[in-house]
Amino acid sequence: MDFKDKTVIVTGAARGIGRVIAERFARLGAAVVVNDLDQEAVDSVARELGGQAIGIRADVTSTAEVKDLFDKTLERFGRIDVLVNNAGVTRDGLLVRMDEKDWDMVLDINLKGAFLTTRAAAKFMMKQRSGRIINISSVVGLIGNAGQVNYSASKAGLIGLTKSSARELASRGVTINAVAPGFIETEMTRKLSESARENLISQITLNRLGTPDDIASAVLFLASDDASYITGQVLAVDGGITM
Ligand code: NAP
Repeated sequence: MDFKDKTVIVTGAARGIGRVIAERFARLGAAVVVNDLDQEAVDSVARELGGQAIGIRADVTSTAEVKDLFDKTLERFGRIDVLVNNAGVTRDGLLVRMDEKDWDMVLDINLKGAFLTTRAAAKFMMKQRSGRIINISSVVGLIGNAGQVNYSASKAGLIGLTKSSARELASRGVTINAVAPGFIETEMTRKLSESARENLISQITLNRLGTPDDIASAVLFLASDDASYITGQVLAVDGGITM
């Protein structure tokens, strides 16, 4: 795979899965825009990526900041080939005890944020007559999870956004797909007790947690020329949990 002369925006890329996705695109020659909430953090990741990578701070829930993210990207690189909607948060709690503010926050970042960036990217990609958008959903958007009504609703919503926008933009050469990760080795899963971790692993057909690289590989494939006939799909990268 070769992403030379391609411009890729990855949201929420200061750490975790987004950071690894940004690194993998940069290694394959892409000009990467590292987006997250903190300017110092995105600058530092962009420096580590090297090449043409730049960091642009923007809160994906803000229309004005999303506009600024896309304006600055176009000013610097003149095109946008790939958008990866990766920024996401959890605020877990059982349904009957869930605060409205935790519902709103998770839906705002995980779903409205992806709507705002997709809308901004679509305007440009439609004119360009090419583009790839990859939304990072989750297996809990497919099968649900106790304690995550807000998060699973946001990730299921992201699948609806993926399919409807894929239908709208197909005629303009833009494909839109989702990747649904299972349980991935990140800060979150590293904090689990040994017994909770073993219990989790026992539910995974491939008998291990996923890695951020497992997710990045699927994203790179969907962004590549090899995936030009794939749109509106949800690719579960979950070690077999949802089969
Ligand atoms: P992470 O380490 O928490 O990274 C998410 C990044 O998004 C953080 O740097 C965060 O910044 C940033 N962010 C939060 N709100 C933002 C906003 N409004 N605008 C821009 N950036 C924002 O999470 P991760 O585990 O790598 O997960 C990445 C994606 O994969 C998420 O969408 C997540 O839902 C999804 N996913 C993860 C797993 C898993 O097992 N880890 C499984 C399924 C799906 P702050 O640190 O400042 O908040």
